[in-house]
Amino acid sequence: MKPKLINEELRRRLRMVDLRMKESSRNLYVIFSMDCERIANESPEGEGPRSWEIGGEAISRFSEILSNEGFRAVFFIQPETAERYAGLFLKLKDKGFELGLHIHPGNFRDHSFKKYLGSYSPDEQHHILSLAISDWRKALGFEPKSFRAGFFSTNDYTYKILYELGFRQSSTSKPNRTFRRSMLPGLEHIRMDITLIQIIGLYLEH
Ligand SMILES: [Zn+2]
Repeated sequence: MKPKLINEELRRRLRMVDLRMKESSRNLYVIFSMDCERIANESPEGEGPRSWEIGGEAISRFSEILSNEGFRAVFFIQPETAERYAGLFLKLKDKGFELGLHIHPGNFRDHSFKKYLGSYSPDEQHHILSLAISDWRKALGFEPKSFRAGFFSTNDYTYKILYELGFRQSSTSKPNRTFRRSMLPGLEHIRMDITLIQIIGLYLEH
């Protein structure tokens, strides 16, 4: 699907949310977020955009479309991606977007971590997350307070460690996650926009 069509699809969904809000007597709360990954050939744990140019464009367009509709979003950012787009992210922060940490250990630094976050012991998780915070802070100049683990991978120790490391909110728990790419016919290859569409879709269903 071409970028223009994706934009149209997002706008169509945003209009539907808007319509639902007007029809409902109750408040409807919607959160938009995007996982900002390293590029695909630097992301053995999972997919990323084909190039840094495409990734940067996806972030810009996503924020533009939401801003035009009066919305903001949270960007969950892999440390290497924070470094790559630091200027863009800091501009978005000034406009009211939130910047948080996203980490796929398998995509981190020199790829020496091979497992999902929740597969590691508490000490190992503390170590990996401390390194990730350090790189992220070097890139963006402040400490992240929001967190999302790659593939929502955690274990029973993760939340305590996150709290100790200064995080105060997480978008990591997603009970009964049963995401299937086939739920988005025609959009299976659009990694960067899946979260937005998923979330809007969920709200529309209820
Ligand atoms: Zn991810």
